Amino acid sequence: MPAKVEGKSAAPALSAPQKALRKLGLVRDIDLALHLPLRYEDETRIITLREARDGQLAQIEGTVTNSEISQRPRRQLLVTLDDGTDTCTLRFFTFYPAHRKTLAVGERVRVRGELRGGFLGWTMVHPAFHAAGGELPDALTPVYPTSAQLPQAYLRKVVASGLRRADLGENLPPALLGGLHAVVRGTWTLRDALQYLHHPGADVSLDALEDRSHPAWQRLKAEELLAQQLSQFTARQERAELRAPALRAKPGGLHEQLLGVLPFALTTAQHRVGEEIARDLMRQIPMHRLLQGDVGSGKTVVAALAAAIAIDAGWQCALMAPTEILAEQHFAKLIGWLEPLLAPLGKRVAWLTGSQKKKQRGEMLALIASGEAALVVGTHAVIQDQVVFKNLALAIIDEQHRFGVAQRLALRGKMGTGHTEVSAGASTGSAQEPHLLMMTATPIPRTLAMSYYADLDVSTIDELPPGRTPIVTKVVADNRRNEVVERIRSQVAQGRQVYWVCPLIEESEVLDLSNATATHAELSESLPGVLVGLLHSRMPVAEKKAVMSLFTGGQMGVLVSTTVIEVGVDVPNASLMVIEHAERFGLSQLHQLRGRVGRGAAASACVLLYTPPDSGRLGETARERLKAMAETSDGFEIARRDLEIRGPGEFLGARQSGAPLLRFADLATDTHLLEWARAAAPVMLAEYPQQAEKHIARWLGGKAEFLKA
Ligand code: ADP
Ligand code: MG
Repeated sequence: MPAKVEGKSAAPALSAPQKALRKLGLVRDIDLALHLPLRYEDETRIITLREARDGQLAQIEGTVTNSEISQRPRRQLLVTLDDGTDTCTLRFFTFYPAHRKTLAVGERVRVRGELRGGFLGWTMVHPAFHAAGGELPDALTPVYPTSAQLPQAYLRKVVASGLRRADLGENLPPALLGGLHAVVRGTWTLRDALQYLHHPGADVSLDALEDRSHPAWQRLKAEELLAQQLSQFTARQERAELRAPALRAKPGGLHEQLLGVLPFALTTAQHRVGEEIARDLMRQIPMHRLLQGDVGSGKTVVAALAAAIAIDAGWQCALMAPTEILAEQHFAKLIGWLEPLLAPLGKRVAWLTGSQKKKQRGEMLALIASGEAALVVGTHAVIQDQVVFKNLALAIIDEQHRFGVAQRLALRGKMGTGHTEVSAGASTGSAQEPHLLMMTATPIPRTLAMSYYADLDVSTIDELPPGRTPIVTKVVADNRRNEVVERIRSQVAQGRQVYWVCPLIEESEVLDLSNATATHAELSESLPGVLVGLLHSRMPVAEKKAVMSLFTGGQMGVLVSTTVIEVGVDVPNASLMVIEHAERFGLSQLHQLRGRVGRGAAASACVLLYTPPDSGRLGETARERLKAMAETSDGFEIARRDLEIRGPGEFLGARQSGAPLLRFADLATDTHLLEWARAAAPVMLAEYPQQAEKHIARWLGGKAEFLKA
């Protein structure tokens, strides 16, 4: 055989089960040790058929008294087992000669499965079985989450050996152990806890294991939360080592001028968060701030004011939005406000989107590279490789939960190399980063802010601009659609405008579209003389823009759309929002959609149309969501209920693709453990840095980097 000449020897090929393990993220011994059972099977006892209950998962032992293959109603092997107290029929729809041998008449066998009682006596379908005898285990048998390629028996073996080999030494210094034992109500070590959870004794209370209140579970969850807090505090410390340009508003400068030309006065809340941001910008440490404020609370102008500070100091600012329409809206507003102020400085606003013509894009790239574009607004296009900033100092991300970790990191990496005088005051040689401002209309509940977002400073706009009238929300069954159309007619007759949103049907974009198209046709027909527009994600961008401008301009009375208008659209004259199939939307999504109306002085309403399934009533979750919508329009209350209904996934959005959601801890029930971890983490980092590092590695492995984005 010819010798291989590559420099690196190829890694040995992985076997199929090894690959399957890798897919489940089970690579290191510690990963295996932390792969906990879904449930347990009790093989510790053999019960008699006389004491058995219908539906019970049971292990029985007896003698085979009959074995035959029946062809009806389909081919199957029927085996009768007699345990001395009663008989049970075992049914197998697939079987092999070896099975028949073990289950031959006269053999004694031990079988385990779900017992069904019935007219013809006990039966078990496809029980597990083997020849009788052998010792009974003294612990419950774990059943692990697995995949089709990974047999349970194999997984059990590798988990057991991973558990034996894993370094489970105590990471917590004695000084912190006392506090831990108090919150978990027990002195369990990690090793004991894992040993117990993998192989609980036969006498254990399955309830305490299931609801995870058992001290072994508590210890595990506390460890996990500690790792998360440690990584968040570390991220914060590392950021403090980084350098960013210190930006300060100048008297009479752009910031002041912008305030002067705004057609309104800032609300107290806008003013306050503006100050918080301005204080961050003055520091040489990169800002890492989340600006949260309900839909319509006026985040854009706060962002523009921050941009003005950066631009005035001679730097560039980028504003990234998740959709083209939203980027466009920002662009229109920001141009209106800023362009006249920038012109005397010889500066411009540039924009970047995916659908741009090549020539225009080239011009924009040149403006950005030369620094003439002081403000760059756009979609994901802003973070593409060809985009080279001269001196980016402030990056603003709107609707941040729509972006992934990688995208945020990319934007932060766009600092640019043009400017060097910055580092004059800062410690030289340290990395430069732009200040980062993230905006969201989905307020983060307190427990989440304490855990996932612990490395983030949060500013909150908790007040809407004056003159808004509250939105009345009605939940209406789809068979009353005609009344809704009447309502639209009267709104349009009063010169108002209406949104009609059709849901995204995930499995079928085509269906989604046909739904919106049908509604569009229906409304056009029933509202003669009213211009009814259609907007969906598959339309060419130019067409989308044309439709949007007719709607923003007021010529179009009704806009039917798929969820493309979900974020950020701002048409104050719109006073009615109809959401079709509202039962299919998530709570925060509904809330955001509703926020498109109620932006002007006119009384506004939101109609949630729902279609009960053919089977009758709506599901529990859907009903809870619609109820919450009708009961409150407070974004924080909505967020709290959403967390209750859905868990943290919705809030973390794209963040979860990089950061593991907590596997074991549950923020709804484990606040006491979270509070302990939050207090312990800084102590551990300051006084026991090596153990802290070990602990992060144990729990997060290579994933820690992502948590910092
Ligand atoms: P969101 O926080 O949802 O992004 P916007 O920034 O789009 O909200 O603001 C919603 C609307 O309110 C816009 O038309 C904006 O110009 C207006 N607005 C913002 N701040 C004020 C204010 N202080 N007074 C009156 N209107 C305001
Ligand atoms: Mg907005």
